[in-house]
Amino acid sequence: MNNNVQIFTGCNPTWCPGCGNHSIIGGLKSSLVQLNLTPSDIRIVFGIGCSGNMNDFLNAYAVHSLHGRAIPTGIGIKLAQHKAPVIVIAGDGDCYGEGGNHFMHACRGNHDIKVFIHNNGVYGLTTGQASPTAQHGYVSKSTPKGIIEQPLNPLSLAITQGATFVAQTFTGDVDHMASIFGRAIHHRGFSLVNILQPCVTFNKINTFAYYQKNSYKIPSSYDAKNYEMSLKMASELNSFKFPLGVVYETERPTYTDQISHLKTKELVCRKPYAGYGELMKEFL
Ligand code: SF4
Repeated sequence: MNNNVQIFTGCNPTWCPGCGNHSIIGGLKSSLVQLNLTPSDIRIVFGIGCSGNMNDFLNAYAVHSLHGRAIPTGIGIKLAQHKAPVIVIAGDGDCYGEGGNHFMHACRGNHDIKVFIHNNGVYGLTTGQASPTAQHGYVSKSTPKGIIEQPLNPLSLAITQGATFVAQTFTGDVDHMASIFGRAIHHRGFSLVNILQPCVTFNKINTFAYYQKNSYKIPSSYDAKNYEMSLKMASELNSFKFPLGVVYETERPTYTDQISHLKTKELVCRKPYAGYGELMKEFL
């Protein structure tokens, strides 16, 4: 990347001191530099939450979308400009809670978007209510007697619903994050990176020390193309063991690969539909 290109906007991050989000923006910057992608090359969609505030700090063509709607916004951009890398950045509450339905269907479609989830088990921006990945029994403002539901397992869900790249990383290791982000961006197809991101202010269980103790790097001998093995590894989250690395990777045609008229030209480069004005009048 040209050294004169500014990947940061110049606005100082407003995240709490020690928040894992500081490392995520550093890991993302490193991966974009390594891939020689400039801010004008990439499209980023942010969800709502502490993660979404990265919109103010990272320089790119970006949209700060609605809560739970970052994935469909990313899919819309991909359909219009299917050659451009599209990254979606959201929190676990946003993507696995409000946006859970979109998440499943994006996996099914193998939409070629890269979904990076800041998973901290809470809704940090609204001061610490339990999110879908909070551990059973987790006590928060919204669950004073402990959460009743079992935690959602994003890795198993993504693999079983058709995602073609499923990985996990940890904000305690910036180099690991940068390498996983790079592999996800390079992959053709729906890519999930579940980022274990301690919320130091509101989640006193899933801390840096907790993940350091309970996570492990996936060995190089592991075959990420083996579906059964990947499901077995993903299920380790249910017993609070956290594999770090690529859990599953396979190949199949993306959504836009299967739309014949996109083969010739990006949608955004086509002439607007001549009857668009008349059509709009019908709806206004
Ligand atoms: Fe980070 Fe939690 Fe602070 Fe939000 S509330 S900035 S997730 S530490």
